Amino acid sequence: MAFDYDLFVIGGGSGGVRAARIAAAEGGARVGLAEESRMGGTCVIRGCVPKKLMVFASGFPEIFKEAQAFGWDVPDMAFDWPRFRRALETELDRLEAAYRRTLQNAGVVMHDARAVLEDAHTVRIATGERFTTKHVLIATGGWPFVPKIPGAELAVTSNEMFHLPALPKRVLVVGGGYIASEFACILNGLGVKVTQYYRGAQILRGFDDEARGHVVAGMAAHGIDIRCNRDVARLEKVAGGVRAVDMTGVAAEFDLVLYATGRRPNSGGMGLAELGVGMGASGQIEVDGWSQTAVPSIYAVGDVTDRLNLTPVAIREGHAFADTVFRGVATRADHDLVPSAVFTQPELGTVGLTEEQAKALGPADVYVTTFRPMRGAFAARPDKVLMKLVVSVATGRVLGCHIVGPEAGEMIQVVAVAVKMGATKADFDRTVAVHPTMSEELVTLRKATRRV
Ligand code: NDP
Repeated sequence: MAFDYDLFVIGGGSGGVRAARIAAAEGGARVGLAEESRMGGTCVIRGCVPKKLMVFASGFPEIFKEAQAFGWDVPDMAFDWPRFRRALETELDRLEAAYRRTLQNAGVVMHDARAVLEDAHTVRIATGERFTTKHVLIATGGWPFVPKIPGAELAVTSNEMFHLPALPKRVLVVGGGYIASEFACILNGLGVKVTQYYRGAQILRGFDDEARGHVVAGMAAHGIDIRCNRDVARLEKVAGGVRAVDMTGVAAEFDLVLYATGRRPNSGGMGLAELGVGMGASGQIEVDGWSQTAVPSIYAVGDVTDRLNLTPVAIREGHAFADTVFRGVATRADHDLVPSAVFTQPELGTVGLTEEQAKALGPADVYVTTFRPMRGAFAARPDKVLMKLVVSVATGRVLGCHIVGPEAGEMIQVVAVAVKMGATKADFDRTVAVHPTMSEELVTLRKATRRV
């Protein structure tokens, strides 16, 4: 049977765009792609990219303070949110155009419309057009989840944070994950009074305990009011803002309430379950190691599969799918030892096992140092950097590395290469330091702090 396309991709985000491009440009496939919103997806349009630009924007007050310590006369500086927002929008327009150009150059046919599946080989898009296709790739990502509490509609999610008409003065951030913690720091840096409620004992659950403790101490020292073991029972509209009433009945008022309580796979209403595609409890599409669903012609990559919800992972999954199906190179995405960074202030970079995970697997030596970096110390900043290696006693291998401090994300990327290669502590030790840097501490950790 002749199909209209060899591959139809639903979703123009990181995973979908990579798969479409490789299948078309390198696999010679006829590829169609449907995107109902803007090309680029969560990462480019309402996630990583605008978030990181906001992180940069929010870091300047500290830089101005430092500049004064270094002898610069700094006049009073004020932040112009509408000006920043306009520049942000221009940048996102540029990036979206670049994504479109990339797809166009690869020969991918773009459809700016929502797509649903009619059967295992037929896609219908919102314009009413139908296309037959040999393969389908679902790469529709995720969407913010807000628990159903009374007044939930008064809260905003990360989606809205890039479009605020004005910067609020008092914000409540609910949640303790990546997004909540990053926005708490961004807003705080921009001069907003930030309160963060987290339902558990300590934010950033899942990260190395000592490292997250260090992040929390830094966030609190920068003025964020972090309230753990506290959750919102209901939200009420009040003049000029929102009142949040917690589980114990304590109420507080804010100009804005941001819910960052996780994301859910964006898999509803596409006709997947009806076709026999396996779906998990929170709507995630079930796939095997090749990203193939229970329906052989349908594959899925990225956040919609809820494996490891990070842009570079979605890209790898999309690329591996295209290599396997269209280039004849059987490739599985590798989900082991994936580094990541939380762009809080201070920043957290991490790869491999936490101390707690390593301990559960066998004896480990833990090397930790905390110190004031040269630049901050000169400016009389109290912030300390934390560097930590978790090392297997049995093999000497570095099982995990955790860094808290300026540019931790940049540093962990490089350390991750060594960790992925199986570097031992002895390999770190025989690497000569680059002086004076912060990261040199990673190769000068002589004595274990403790054995666990
Ligand atoms: P996370 O899953 O990281 O965090 C969700 C937070 O909300 C947790 O603290 C969770 O608490 C809390 N929560 C969940 N449900 C409720 C509820 N019903 N009531 C109160 N609190 C609740 O999700 P995020 O939204 O922060 O991020 C989504 C994903 O996006 C992440 O998994 C990450 O992979 C990715 N991401 C990565 C970034 C990066 O690499 N820098 C940046 C931003 C996002 P508890 O801990 O108790 O479950």
